[in-house]
Amino acid sequence: MSDEMKVNPVRAKELLENITHVTERIRAVNKTGKNVRLIAVSKLKPATDILALHTATPPVVHFGENYYQELQEKAQLLPRSIKWHFIGALQTNKCKPLAEQIPNLWSVSSVDSTKKADNLEKGRKALVEKDGAESIQEKLRLMVQVNTSGEENKSGVEPGDAAALCKHVLENCPHLKLAGLMTIGAIARSQATTPETENEDFVCLRETRDRVAQELGIAKEQLELSMGMSSDFEGAITMGSDEVRVGTTIFGQRPPKKDAKVKEDTEEVKK
Ligand SMILES: *Cc1c(COP(=O)(O)O)cnc(C)c1O
Repeated sequence: MSDEMKVNPVRAKELLENITHVTERIRAVNKTGKNVRLIAVSKLKPATDILALHTATPPVVHFGENYYQELQEKAQLLPRSIKWHFIGALQTNKCKPLAEQIPNLWSVSSVDSTKKADNLEKGRKALVEKDGAESIQEKLRLMVQVNTSGEENKSGVEPGDAAALCKHVLENCPHLKLAGLMTIGAIARSQATTPETENEDFVCLRETRDRVAQELGIAKEQLELSMGMSSDFEGAITMGSDEVRVGTTIFGQRPPKKDAKVKEDTEEVKK
């Protein structure tokens, strides 16, 4: 698997320093002492970057990807011990193959329709039936994406529609675990977020979560909040986030999609 992939030690050191710094910032702002999950968002970055972090001590386990094809390729190249999160805009017709073909897909954080949930359910069911239940012990986690900013170009359900979708998953998708709610939020609000300010998107997601829990008759602690990215993760944690998704601060600026490579060009000169 990884024999053909060489981790550049200078790059590995840089990535480790970056993620250690993020972890320290999370710890500094996390007053409740609850466990805040850090997803290293590796989209458009080479597989060797992921391998560098995953083979470190302690290993980084949670990685987030946005593109179906790219995740497929990376999942095939990289160890099964990685827990993949699909966090990007998801096409309905890609849901079944996504859930069926990537056994270590751990979470899909961007579900905004019953059709997508149903197709993920079909895919995960097919995988369990094919692989046998022993190798797939956990349900595939699903988060409902909420459009908290009301921007037309943002995906996600309206806050008022979140409960119905959550209920659908609980009642109709036995191979999926309803893990919580996710938002991206407006860029301007995100950039204005400091550890002290209250980002309206985060307020909205938290209120939506509380209302959904009440409507469904479950404890609100059962529904996680996935909110916070490079520019606003500290503010998100202050507001009660359980999971932050950080890319640029760990991996640096992303290349344009057309220039991104899963496998880097080898730097060694062939003899
Ligand atoms: C790209 C992306 C992130 C990471 O963004 P950064 O600003 O690079 O940290 C987080 N969440 C989602 C849904 C994304 O698409």
